[in-house]
Amino acid sequence: MTMRDTDRALVQAASAVAKLRCRSAMHTHAAAARTADGRVISGVNLVHGSASACAEVIVIATAATQGVADLETLVTVEDRGRSLHTPCESCRQLLAERFPALRVIIGPADNPHVVPVGELPAFHAAG
Ligand SMILES: [Zn+2]
Repeated sequence: MTMRDTDRALVQAASAVAKLRCRSAMHTHAAAARTADGRVISGVNLVHGSASACAEVIVIATAATQGVADLETLVTVEDRGRSLHTPCESCRQLLAERFPALRVIIGPADNPHVVPVGELPAFHAAG
């Protein structure tokens, strides 16, 4: 799927959150999602020994908190916005069940592309 201007803006939004808020080992990823009416919801992950949560989960919970029922496009960045992150297996399942028409932006930061959530490539954990 082709990148739209709004997709590039969403990557910039997630990168801006990552630059501002991902300043410790506790917060390493930022996700941003756009609703059909153009609102952007963002969030960072939480890494903790007893309770960790992916940035995608935080965005979904934030959307629910704000009464948003549908997300159109999502992107997750890491390394303070220098690279895009493909959602992990748990997030893929959650996103696909909750938002079956979701578009997800993945790929190298200098050449991102959009895939339907159901066609996300398998996640390979680093290390
Ligand atoms: Zn995840």
